[in-house]
Amino acid sequence: VMADEAHLDEDCIFCKILRGEVPCFKVFEDDDILAFMDINPIAEGHALVIPKHHSKDILESPSQWVGKTFAGAKRIAEAVHETLKPDGINIVQANGPGAKQSVLHLHVHIIPRTLDDGLTMNWELVPGDMDDIGGLAERIAANME
Ligand code: AMP
Ligand code: ZN
Repeated sequence: VMADEAHLDEDCIFCKILRGEVPCFKVFEDDDILAFMDINPIAEGHALVIPKHHSKDILESPSQWVGKTFAGAKRIAEAVHETLKPDGINIVQANGPGAKQSVLHLHVHIIPRTLDDGLTMNWELVPGDMDDIGGLAERIAANME
C-alpha cells in the first residue's frame, strides 16, 4: 500500500494498515483510498473505506478527503451489491464517542443488510472468521469496476 507518509499518524491502526505494518483483507486501492474488510463484521461483507490521509473524523477532515472517501464508498457498495445481492446496504460513518467511533481515522462502513438481520446502530466488536472474511474480500474485489 502506497501512502503519503507525511499525512499519516504514527500510532493510528488504520495508518499502520496504510503503511503495510498491519495486514488487511484488501478489496480495492487507488492513490487516494483503501478499502478492506472489517475484521469484526456485523454482517457478511462488512467493509471499510479509508482515505490515505490521517484525520480523526468528518469534522477535522478536509472536504476533498471526505469526498474521495465517500466516492470510494459508492464504488465498494456497487461491488458488494453485485457480489452478495443483499436486501440493502447501509453506509455508516461515526464521529466522536457519542457516535461510538472507535478508530480515530476517518472511515466509512459499507454494511450489507438483509430484511430480517435485526441489526441496530450500536454494536459490539466481535472478531469474525478470518477465512470467511478473506474469501469475501476476494469475491468483492473481483467485482470492482
Ligand atoms: P467505528 O466504530 O466506526 O470507529 O468503527 C471502527 C471499525 O474498525 C470497527 O468496526 C472495527 O471492527 C474496525 N477495525 C478495527 N481495527 C481493524 C483492523 N485492524 N482491521 C479491520 N477492521 C478493523
Ligand atoms: Zn490514521
